Amino acid sequence: MIIVLKPTATKEEMNHIVDMIQKAGLKTNVSIGDHQTIVGVIGDKTKLSDMPIASLASVESIVQVSKPYKIASRDFHPDDTIVDVKGRKIGGGNLAIVAGPCSVESEAQMMTITKAVKESGANFLRAGAFKPRTSPYAFQGMGEEGLKLLKKAGREFDLPVVTEVMDTATIDLICEYADVLQIGTRNAQNFALLKEAGKRNLPVVLKRGMSQTIEEWLMSAEYIMSEGNKNVILCERGIRTFETATRNTFDIIAVPVIKEKSHLPIIVDPSHAAGKWQYVVPMALAGIVAGADGIMIEVHHEPEKAISDGAQSLKPKKFTEMMKEIVKIASVIGVGENLKIAA
Ligand code: PEP
Ligand code: MN
Repeated sequence: MIIVLKPTATKEEMNHIVDMIQKAGLKTNVSIGDHQTIVGVIGDKTKLSDMPIASLASVESIVQVSKPYKIASRDFHPDDTIVDVKGRKIGGGNLAIVAGPCSVESEAQMMTITKAVKESGANFLRAGAFKPRTSPYAFQGMGEEGLKLLKKAGREFDLPVVTEVMDTATIDLICEYADVLQIGTRNAQNFALLKEAGKRNLPVVLKRGMSQTIEEWLMSAEYIMSEGNKNVILCERGIRTFETATRNTFDIIAVPVIKEKSHLPIIVDPSHAAGKWQYVVPMALAGIVAGADGIMIEVHHEPEKAISDGAQSLKPKKFTEMMKEIVKIASVIGVGENLKIAA
């Protein structure tokens, strides 16, 4: 349930309500918006049945929330969440352009690709050092050595870095190098990992599980947020369907659905959805038009030699062309001011 406070309610009145609820053994989540302050209540509401909250002078209304996710829900937080990563904002009209190779392969590869994506307007660098591969015999990533190269490239070109964490055993190591943690599709319901990420102070890009419903995906976000970390960025990367023409099916309608149900920013990853570079640019543009707060794109200067996901990687030239289109489209729909500043 949520308690909507009157615009005239004071901070003391708000704290009094929060106190009452917490003393009854429930959790609260306060959202102070421009126009409204809301106290979200999480837990067994029957414990509040003999408390006269509705009749307090500072309370405007009490609304029951039937959705299983609470902190991730727009009911609990009507304004868009804007995630700030070292001064780069994501959400509320600010677009994240997360670009880079699938995997860190070498210093020369990282430097070449990072320079190219930075020059074309990317504002985040991505690359995996711990890779979730279908085959145990395939390249598993460079590990800590890869994290070092990723961080070095990010520093050199002033780009915050996004990298995947696969398990609870390596999360502390990854936090030493990353600016944003990525939880991949295969771990989207690894609840132990979600909880650990919830205890860290780095923002988390949470990819949609390849068989997850939107509600289940938001429940995964709730796992992170309920541990205290409110900086979650959702990422639609395609789901598994009967279609085989593409690697996954890009569920673009997830963007407006998420926007309705949640205040969290959502970016799209057409690279992993498509599986083929030819389809990536139109889907990236479509994602922005649909209202996404950014894109994640795999880029490689020599995709035919890439150790992983070469077939879906854009060459730097194509990425540059795409960025020009993104900037044009963004200005038509009135978002992405931050890209112009960067350009
Ligand atoms: C990746 O970003 O390289 C990756 C493995 O993504 P996903 O978890 O979406 O497959
Ligand atoms: Mn990949």
